[in-house]
Amino acid sequence: MASMVNENECGGETQSLEPQGPGRGAARWGPQHAGARELANLYSPGKRCQEWISVILCFSLMAFNLIYLLANFHQGHTWSILLGIVAGILTADFASGFVHWGADTWGSVDLPIFGKAFIRPFREHHIDPTAITRHDFIETNGDNCMLTIVPLANMAYNFLTLSPAEIYHIYPLYCYLYALAIFVTLTNQIHKWSHTYFGLPRWVVFLQDCHIILPRKHHRIHHVSPHETYFCITTGWLNYPLEKLGFWRYLEDLIQGVTGEKPRSDDLKWAQKVK
Ligand SMILES: [Zn+2]
Ligand SMILES: [Zn+2]
Repeated sequence: MASMVNENECGGETQSLEPQGPGRGAARWGPQHAGARELANLYSPGKRCQEWISVILCFSLMAFNLIYLLANFHQGHTWSILLGIVAGILTADFASGFVHWGADTWGSVDLPIFGKAFIRPFREHHIDPTAITRHDFIETNGDNCMLTIVPLANMAYNFLTLSPAEIYHIYPLYCYLYALAIFVTLTNQIHKWSHTYFGLPRWVVFLQDCHIILPRKHHRIHHVSPHETYFCITTGWLNYPLEKLGFWRYLEDLIQGVTGEKPRSDDLKWAQKVK
């Protein structure tokens, strides 16, 4: 029998036969959900190829830049480096929330190219939240790696062409950009860990428990239908303040007022699919 996997308070899993929200009575959440099966089948070889290229390029550039950052380190920069890293992580968390909110709330899988490639995984994730735990490293991280290739390539180019004095001057900014790039790149890996309840390395659980990366219990708040809050999935540090501000609701009202589009209408359509 198909069933939804619910993540309980203790970090274990319980089986629930009832989906929450609009899909109730129509289908059960999980890999057997008709919408989830259809979405999983849209993952194409071309998309896979794009992900492989992105991962290889991104990690090569990351290693290259790390070597140059270490080689150009000066003790006088210690505080600005720390500040740059915290600011980079906060920016990445906000960016994760913004992109996640945008893809969850607007657009459709039917959009040419973009829909199948980039909106599809968000729709799949709501109706089959455990699918991400079955994705391998390439499928999990390919899209985020693609996002950081250009900034990392630009940083590498500058390390090769700028003078030592210019590098010294720009160093704190590059620490900020590097931390931002690392956390943007790792966002979906961190997100995958927040859905994984068995076999996580102890250091990952430690980082989750210290709330340095997205904790499992924290991310569960987003997975309550209709998925309208707690969009930040890197560290989740900004979720509470943004919720208190009503930030996402304000943006949605604004966009609906201008375009007439209803938030999450495509997400709802997939959730209600029965065949
Ligand atoms: Zn979502
Ligand atoms: Zn999730």
